[in-house]
Amino acid sequence: MRKRQVVVRRSENPQRSVVKYGECQKNHAANVGGYAVDGCREFMPSNVGGTNGSLTCAACGCHRNFHKREVEVVSESSSPHSNGT
Ligand SMILES: [Zn+2]
Repeated sequence: MRKRQVVVRRSENPQRSVVKYGECQKNHAANVGGYAVDGCREFMPSNVGGTNGSLTCAACGCHRNFHKREVEVVSESSSPHSNGT
C-alpha cells in the first residue's frame, strides 16, 4: 500500500501581471450600421497620475474600456528597480 502525497508547490518567483491597453476598438460607425475604428493603436492616459482623466485616451478620447486589453505576466526578479525621483 502506498500513501499518496499531495505536494503543494509554492511559487518561489512572485509574478505580477501588467495590464496594457492596445488598439482602440470603439466602433464609431455603429449608429450608421457600419464599422469604423479611429485607428488609435495604443491607449495613452490623458492624465497620468490623475484619477478620472487617466481612464480616457489622450489620442482618441475614448474610454479605456474600448481599448483591447492585454495582460502581461512579468516576474518580479526581472523588473528593474525604480526609486521614484
Ligand atoms: Zn478611440
